[in-house]
Amino acid sequence: MIDFATVVPSRSCRNDEKLVAHIMQYMRRALQELPTMPLLDILLLTIKDNQYALLLLKNPNLPLSHTSYMLRLLELMNIFLAYCEPGTGFVAEALLYRAAIAFLYRQDEHAIFNYQLVGEINPALGRMFMGGVVGQMAQMRLLNRPKNEFNNAMLILPIMADVRCNSKAPYGRLLRPTWSLPKDASFVRERPFVRLLIADRHVRCDYCLAYAPFTLIPCRSCSLVMYCSTRCYDRAQNEYHKVECSLGSILRSQFGNAEFLAARVTIRLYHLFNDIDVLTTYIRNLPRSIPHASYEIPGGVAGRFAEESYMKLYFLATNRSKLSRAELKRDGINACKIAQMIQRHLNLGNGELLLAELMVRHLQIARTNALTLYRAVDDPAVAAPAAPGNTPFAMVLTTTGSMFNHSNEPNVDYTLAVDGAIAFKTKRNIPRDEQLFINYCGGRKRGISPGKKSAVGQTV
Ligand SMILES: [Zn+2]
Ligand SMILES: [Zn+2]
Repeated sequence: MIDFATVVPSRSCRNDEKLVAHIMQYMRRALQELPTMPLLDILLLTIKDNQYALLLLKNPNLPLSHTSYMLRLLELMNIFLAYCEPGTGFVAEALLYRAAIAFLYRQDEHAIFNYQLVGEINPALGRMFMGGVVGQMAQMRLLNRPKNEFNNAMLILPIMADVRCNSKAPYGRLLRPTWSLPKDASFVRERPFVRLLIADRHVRCDYCLAYAPFTLIPCRSCSLVMYCSTRCYDRAQNEYHKVECSLGSILRSQFGNAEFLAARVTIRLYHLFNDIDVLTTYIRNLPRSIPHASYEIPGGVAGRFAEESYMKLYFLATNRSKLSRAELKRDGINACKIAQMIQRHLNLGNGELLLAELMVRHLQIARTNALTLYRAVDDPAVAAPAAPGNTPFAMVLTTTGSMFNHSNEPNVDYTLAVDGAIAFKTKRNIPRDEQLFINYCGGRKRGISPGKKSAVGQTV
């Protein structure tokens, strides 16, 4: 058992580098022992076995997020698909079933998509169903659908932020509108740098978080994640899932959501450079701070913009003087453990200390700045604002969106938009000089008075 009292000896460890170096130096032996988890958990999360998948279908206690009978069946099919051996007849059969439900719900493009997936497993079977009564009818209905039904789905909404960011004691950095905003104005839209699904795993895409029960495709190697499209599948694999695929079961069963999210940021950051020396140079050469105004430009998520977004996230790290020693220890040890797992998985000769140092920082950012997304209690398809009574389903890290301070009576609401962006909307008319507030996580942050997030803006 780890003797926590000796892990973090003093307040001098409120610096990532020192904290990590200290833990690595004194706790090396304790860290060698990777977290142990019940064998059953590992099996259940990484298993791909048709017999087990069949067994799951019969389990009456399977937690389902839907109340409607048809959608419950659909969710069951998706759980079954997640656990089935890829490319087998079982998968094809489940896809045919899902196509039939999609057709009944008049989701014709989804019915056709499922037939195409069947065709990838068994071309003859795919052709047969696509040419059959349901396939033909679905295609016909799709062709005859009024044009304007498509327009909404294809509308590309702008990523923007109509805000000014500056600092004022005692709030630290804060946001004000660029001009007076009317009620219900959507004035900030931003794509998250990373997202983490914490519920609705078999009805939502693990990458873009979209509600897509008709089209989910499981990861080929684990039963943990499903994606709404091959595009999301490829993006997730390239950004982080290749590493997470084997670590995911440990992360999910041994650590909390903040740790999982922080690990995802760390892995994604590594993949932006794909070389630990280049990453080290990048981190060591970061400026000491960045202008507040850079938060007025919403984060980009691809290519060079991803690096810029990361830099803004990096500077969200808050002053740690209020953290207790116990919290520092807990975060420090978890960060070192996860960093070691990532380093081993990536087969990196060195870089353990840098990854651990980044993990501590990301963990702090995840705890303080991650936004929790909510959906309606009775309908997983409906995005809802952060408020008591709604169900949390995901956590995301954004840049501009993280600059809002908290209030129990916020003037701004945020939800997941159809295009995967986080949309911030005014709850009432807001004059130009009034500070903008959101409600953090439906009351998760206890004891925080309105407007006082924490001393944001200083790096230790
Ligand atoms: Zn997706
Ligand atoms: Zn996987």
